[in-house]
Amino acid sequence: MVVTEQVKELQEKIKELAEKKKALILAHYYQRPEVQEIAHYVGDSFGLSKRASQTDAEIIVFCGVRFMAETAKILNPDKKVIHPNPESGCPMADMVSKEQVLRLKEKYPDAEVVAYINTNAETKTVSDVCVTSSNAVKIVKKLKAKRIIFIPDQALGNWVKKNVPQKEFIIWKGFCPPHFEFTAREVRELKERYPDAVVAVHPECHPDVIDMADFVGSTSQIIEFATTTPAKRVIVITEVGLKYSLLKKNPNKEYIFPETMNYCGTVYCCTMKGITLQNVYESLKEEKNEVILPKEVIERAKRPILRMLELAK
Ligand code: SF4
Repeated sequence: MVVTEQVKELQEKIKELAEKKKALILAHYYQRPEVQEIAHYVGDSFGLSKRASQTDAEIIVFCGVRFMAETAKILNPDKKVIHPNPESGCPMADMVSKEQVLRLKEKYPDAEVVAYINTNAETKTVSDVCVTSSNAVKIVKKLKAKRIIFIPDQALGNWVKKNVPQKEFIIWKGFCPPHFEFTAREVRELKERYPDAVVAVHPECHPDVIDMADFVGSTSQIIEFATTTPAKRVIVITEVGLKYSLLKKNPNKEYIFPETMNYCGTVYCCTMKGITLQNVYESLKEEKNEVILPKEVIERAKRPILRMLELAK
């Protein structure tokens, strides 16, 4: 990462403001490197939810997509949660609505609704438990229900189904546009080009891609795997933002990301990259772009999130 004087200056201003206002800055691994640098904590969805539930900061600035900032607000209803770019939503989260889930519940009254954390707050209000890619298998195994309605990610749903064969699954057909760009052919070509490399895949990828993995896990778990594997080269199939944290943790290893292009560059999650130093600075300075949710939504959506935090222990 080339850090210009201008970037450094803005980073310093944000850090000073955060200290003065007692603000906690949280960032997802897919954030721009210069944004990750000013965060007090960088993590995956589960780590961020946990961190958001433990803070005594007065303001939380959430550098991620909207559902993540909403989760922070749900866990901290009395705090000011700022989402620097309110336009930055997750396309997958928008693929299922509360009404659609209610219809499924009517059809399968004995099923429990397992909502990937990548759902909007409204959808969480009708869900039984949330999961992230790091704990979905563990949590679903612990549920009493024999039948599971899994929303909204079909890839993660199928991965959980494969690992929990004793249950029946009704899987919603949502998907993550950036992760679904990767193809098995591309992974095969990378394996041929780097025969000494091991392959780590995020479970939001297509099942054909997952089948080629030596390791499947969330972003944090991929970092852990990359750290502990004796392999010096790791082919990493997830959003390219993770490369920054991987290199920071293990600068002596080589990380190969696919060169797949999507509509905004080399497998970028465009909405994750909608958070910039400039909008972090402006929103913290003016305390604008606050996440506001109705009280009843907060109360109802909190239950599946707290249940996740409990069951993930
Ligand atoms: S990477 Fe996929 S699931 Fe994550 S925020 Fe972007 S679109 Fe949503």
